[in-house]
Amino acid sequence: MVEVDFDLCEANGVCVGLAPDVFDLDDNDELSISTAAELPENKDAIEEAIAGCPRAALHWRQ
Ligand code: SF4
Repeated sequence: MVEVDFDLCEANGVCVGLAPDVFDLDDNDELSISTAAELPENKDAIEEAIAGCPRAALHWRQ
């Protein structure tokens, strides 16, 4: 499962653009991660989001 470090996330939405089925920003600019993150077909998009996050705020849970 992918996780976000809210101390690092600046809610710029890059991950939402790369993996819109997984990430979303609410009205308070807080990132949420949907249960679709568990689906194998979203793994590549999540990897792209982890690599593309300019704040390095996303990571796989160890
Ligand atoms: S790309 Fe990174 S900084 Fe931007 S909203 Fe997603 S987790 Fe936050």
